[in-house]
This record gives sequence, C-alpha cells and structure tokens, in this order.
Amino acid sequence: MADQVTITLPDGSEREVPRGTTPLDVAASIGKRLAKAAVAAKIDGALVDLDRPIEAAAEVAIVTDDTDEGRAVLRHSTAHVMAQAVLDLFPGAKFAIGPPIADGFYYDFELPGGAHFSEDDLERIEARMREIVGADQPFVREELSRDEGLDLFADQPYKREIIEGVDPSEGAGEGAVSVYRNPHDGDGFVDLCRGPHVPSTKRLGAFKLMKVAGAYWRGDEKRPMLQRIYGTAWESAKALEEHLRRIEEAERRDHRRLGVELDLLSFPEELGAGLALWHPKGAVVRRAMEDFSRQQHEKADYALVYTPHIARSTLWETSGHLDFYADGMYPPMELDEGHAYYPKPMNCPFHILIYKSDIRSYRDLPMRIFELGTVYRYERSGVLHGLMRTRGFTQDDSHIFCTPEQVVPELQSLLGFVLDVLRAFGFSEFEADISTRPAEKSVGSDADWEMATDALFEAIKASGLSYDVAEGEGAFYGPKIDIHLRDAIGRRWQMSTLQVDFQEPQRFEMEYVGADNERHRPIMIHRALFGSVERFFGVLVEHYAGAFPTWLAPVQATVLPVADRHEAYAREVAGRLRDAGVRVEVLDATHDTLGARVRKAKMQKVPYVLVVGDDDVDGRTLGVNARGADQPERGVGLEEFVTRVTAEIAERGSPERDPAGDPEGAAAA
Ligand SMILES: [Zn+2]
Ligand SMILES: [Zn+2]
Repeated sequence: MADQVTITLPDGSEREVPRGTTPLDVAASIGKRLAKAAVAAKIDGALVDLDRPIEAAAEVAIVTDDTDEGRAVLRHSTAHVMAQAVLDLFPGAKFAIGPPIADGFYYDFELPGGAHFSEDDLERIEARMREIVGADQPFVREELSRDEGLDLFADQPYKREIIEGVDPSEGAGEGAVSVYRNPHDGDGFVDLCRGPHVPSTKRLGAFKLMKVAGAYWRGDEKRPMLQRIYGTAWESAKALEEHLRRIEEAERRDHRRLGVELDLLSFPEELGAGLALWHPKGAVVRRAMEDFSRQQHEKADYALVYTPHIARSTLWETSGHLDFYADGMYPPMELDEGHAYYPKPMNCPFHILIYKSDIRSYRDLPMRIFELGTVYRYERSGVLHGLMRTRGFTQDDSHIFCTPEQVVPELQSLLGFVLDVLRAFGFSEFEADISTRPAEKSVGSDADWEMATDALFEAIKASGLSYDVAEGEGAFYGPKIDIHLRDAIGRRWQMSTLQVDFQEPQRFEMEYVGADNERHRPIMIHRALFGSVERFFGVLVEHYAGAFPTWLAPVQATVLPVADRHEAYAREVAGRLRDAGVRVEVLDATHDTLGARVRKAKMQKVPYVLVVGDDDVDGRTLGVNARGADQPERGVGLEEFVTRVTAEIAERGSPERDPAGDPEGAAAA
C-alpha cells in the first residue's frame, strides 16, 4: 500500500507503519519506557529529531538518553538553553558556537564592552536556565534560505560568519540553513543548528555550569577572545551527582596537587612552561620505576643504549622528521659554521644509526634496542598539563629490528612483555586499539601490510584483551596497537604503543644479510611501554592517590622514638632497615609530640610508621602502624619486621589489601 512504509529496527525486525509516522510514535509503540528515554532517532544512520516524519522505507533506531549519542543531544540542547539564558540576561551579547564535548558542553559568547562573566553570573544564568526548562519550550526546527538566515542573524556576527563560510556541522549548508527555535513570548530564542534536539526544554534538567574560560574565536589568537562557559549535563540527577563525585575524586588525586603536598616535584615559572623539576622524593620513585624497567628489559634480551639530546639537520632530513614533524620540534641551534642542530623529538633515528654501525646478519635479529631517552617536543602552552603533557619528557623507548618472519612472534612476545610490566605497577584493566592501513597513501607492500596487520590481530587475540579496530587510522608507514589502561577511578589512559614501520628502514637503507646470502630490508617495530616516564608517573600518583606500593614509596618506613631516651634505639632500627635496603627516616622527639609526628608521617602516606618506646628498647621490638590498618601491632620483633617488609618490597606489594582503593578510607584507618 502506498501510504504504508516498511521500517527495520535495530534487532532486524520489520514493521509496516503509515507514511509520516515519527520515530517517537515508533518508540511509543515499542514501549512506554523507550519513549520516555528517547531523545532523538537515527533514520538510515542519520541523527534526527524524534518528530521527523518517516517518508520512505528506512532503518530506524531510537537514541536513548543513557547512550553517548543521547547524552550529546541532551548536552547540546542544554547549551541552547544556556545561550537563551545569557542572551536574556546580557542584552547585546553575541553568541558563537556551543557544541557538546566529553561529559558536557560549552558555549562561547562576546559580552558588550568586552565584559567578563563572574562566578555570580554563572549562578544567575543557571537560575534562568531552570526557568526556561520549567517553561517547557519546544525545540522547533526551521529551514531557511541562506539570505533569510543572514537576515535572521543580522546582529549576530559570529552566526553570519558561519553562514557565509558554510559549515554543515553548524547547520549552515551551501544554499540553505537550519535553525532551532524555542518559541515563547513572541518569536522566542533561535539558534543556527544542524540538530537534532530533544522535543522540549522540559526534557532537560540534570545540568550544572562548571566554569568560565577565555577562548579565541576559531581558536585563532588573532581573532577576538570570547568568554566560554562550560557545563555538564546528564540523563538523571543521579548520573549528574556521580559525575560530580568523580570530578571531586579526580581533584583529590590530581598529581599536580599531590606532587606539591608530597614534595615530589614542581613546575617553577622560571624554568619555562611544560618542564618539571624532580625533587628528591619524586626522584626516588622515578628511579625505582626506571630501575625496574631496565631490569625487565635486560631480562628480555634488550640492549640498553644512550644517545645524545641533539643531532644535525641532515639526520632529521633522512628520517623525514623535518618534512612531517617540524611543527613538533624545537627550533635549531647553529653550530660549526652554519650547521643546524635540533633537540631530538624522537629517539628512533639514533637507534637506527646504532643498527647501521655494523653489517647485520639474519642471525643477529631480532635486534632489540632500549633507551630511557629524553625528547623535546613543542606543545602549545594551552595544552600543557602537569606531567601529562610536557615539553620535555623521557620515553622508555625501544626499537626492534627483525626479519619479516619474526614480526608475528616478536609482536606476540612484545605485547606479553608490555602487559606484564604494566601489571607489575598494579594495573589490571586494559583495552587495545588496532589502527589499520589508511585508505590513501601508504608505504610498504600489500603483503607487508597484511602480514603486519594480521600479526597485530594475532597478538591481541592471544593476549585475551578486548580491542577496537580503528579502520584506516594507522600511520602511512605502518599499523599499530595502542594499549589503554583503566585507573582506580575508571579513567582510561593511553599508555603503550606497538608500531610497525616499513618506512624508516627504507629511508635509512637498512639491510641485513639473509640465510640466502642476499641483502634484505629489516622491519622496524617502535615500542614505548610507559609512553613517557613523566606521564606514567603522573598516572601512578593519581591511581594510588599518592599512597605508592611499598617498593615505589619514597620513604618506606618512618621510625618515631616516643621520647628522647628512645632515640638511640630508633637510630639502630633505622640502620638495620637501611642495611636491608629499606628507605627509612627517623623523626626524633625534639620538636613535636608523638601524635603530631605520627600524623605527619601518615600525611606523607608512608607505608610503615614504626613507634619505639621503653618495652621495645628492652625487647628489640617495634610498634608497627601499617598504612590503611585499623590498629597498630605492638611488640613486633625487629628481625620479623625486616623479613616482612623486604619480602613485600620484593613482591612489589602494599600494606593495604586494595592499595589503589579509596584514599579517604585508608586515611581514616
Ligand atoms: Zn543546536
Ligand atoms: Zn621510534
């Protein structure tokens, strides 16, 4: 029948519906709960409003508010409400763009006279937004010609610029534009927009405005500086509350804050942006991480090397960095009559030169080179973030040179190696992404790509990790695996990368002599495990909320004599522990009460606080306060404790059963 159309639902089932049926009708016919959770729909994969009539046979899916796409619709709709509130409260304000982002949304404004929003303004705006939500204003889509659009936004220069520049993602097509109107008191509020939106403002409500920041229009510092308001929005008050709690927890664990509190590191302004100083306690942790890394690499048959921090331009021309990576490099220094030397952004070319320092036979392969190599990369000051994004950092960088036959087994063992080391640091949840050959340009033969990509898949499958495939997202020089881990509060961090490379061996004309006595080209695998030592350290600080496992803790035990007369014994205890390889300090009784010293040591998240008094001196014992324990243990023999703590260090354990768990819980104990 002509006035019926067939729709296909996500489960593959088909339905006949009258032409002009809306996705909301479809949702309602499936169930009340689905209709209630619906915020938008997909018709043949395109996101549309719930009231968009279905005019022809199509695949129809309902987008609900608890999905990423659904939340993006909620967030973007909330951004419209915020823009309406700002335009109400600040007559003459200009509005620019307001997209959804991870966990929320923002909108950019220009206030008359270059005024700035204050914290109080955020409260007023939020209050006005609640009124708009309460008013149940529908979101109505309108399509206009380009000229009508320009007229509609006659006094909104940013909207006009978008229309003139044509940006379909903002609702400005070649000849037509789409807008969404919230009618009320006359014409109401209208915004240039591609949509979709929720049916009405009443559908919103679980939101909060978070902060104001300056942002250049189009991200261009030559254009006006706008006022950006960030907000978050969720499908329910409960989801919003959980999000706010996660933020609070992340702030409590912030490595920049804990870095100062625990005296681990600092970023003095005199040093320059994106560069860290490692204080003695931070340096101890870093050295423990690096020593462990070196040991593991040596066990796995890597050759450890050192290479310089700068190299001549010719090296970076051969490697291709000056062609493809110049923006990420520091500017050159002129030395020796016009020779340009660049700080290294990567270690790869140096390791290639080591490979090339001799004739290699297939019997020498795979050749695994490892370096804790410090590199320098230019990052815009706006993206710098503590240790997570710096301008100078140390990669735990390996390059493996192998024959084509060795790629599969090598990748498998590499992946196992990477996961073992990450587990040793206390992580247990991993995910992987495989990036495959880009559609356009790439180097390497079809056979090479197929072999390397298959090898990555085989390695991942053997590891049992869950993974996503980023189709065509590989670099032009080879496919790769990225390993992500989840920290104690569920955040996902990209850490390790295994990258196959067909290009550099070609650029550097690398060779090995095969069993056939002919010359062949090796394949190169780049592998960073921590990624950067600095960033991994930052993740560790946040994962453990500064309460490092004993083997990493800057101070592993603090000895507290109850009174002056116990100090000699306290020093003896410290000496015995130090001899056993334990990092120990003594806080003597001169200045502080015992209680104040116990608190001080606990604030520093020291794994063991050891208190010694009269009975201990007589019996050669200790009072042991283990971090996270409810009660101190009294009368523990000194030798018994030495055995216990050294075993814990060797096993990379912690005093707590769940070391990365709630730090408040641990502190309360
Ligand atoms: Zn919109
Ligand atoms: Zn590399």
